Amino acid sequence: MTAEREFNSASFYQFLSEKKLMAARCKKCHSLYLPPHPLCIQCHGTDMEWVEMKGNGKLAAFTAISVGPSFTLDEGYDRDNPYLVGIVELDEGPKVSGRIQGLDPKKPEDIKVGTPVTVEFLEPEEGKRCYIAFKAI
Ligand SMILES: [Zn+2]
Repeated sequence: MTAEREFNSASFYQFLSEKKLMAARCKKCHSLYLPPHPLCIQCHGTDMEWVEMKGNGKLAAFTAISVGPSFTLDEGYDRDNPYLVGIVELDEGPKVSGRIQGLDPKKPEDIKVGTPVTVEFLEPEEGKRCYIAFKAI
């Protein structure tokens, strides 16, 4: 049951593996939290509900990573094969960080802030951690 899940990142990643991008919304002031937060920072309310994000937004900031955490080396990324991470501002308002696909990390000068992106649900490999990815559209 959606309503019974705790408002924490474990639940968030659980939803992600079910191909849902979920945010916690404060029932009192309607602030959105992504990743979810059990306490509203705006009004200190604790009455939260899950809402599904459409997953569309625009690139607000990005950086190309050539030396990342060790699990990225396992995925084949290194100095010669960098990857992009970025902050995406969702249409619903919250900003979320994630992997950015579909743009060339070797040509960051060609990448524009404001590029429309949509969430991409990756099949998590056995034993690998799940992460949020967006692709340019
Ligand atoms: Zn609130």
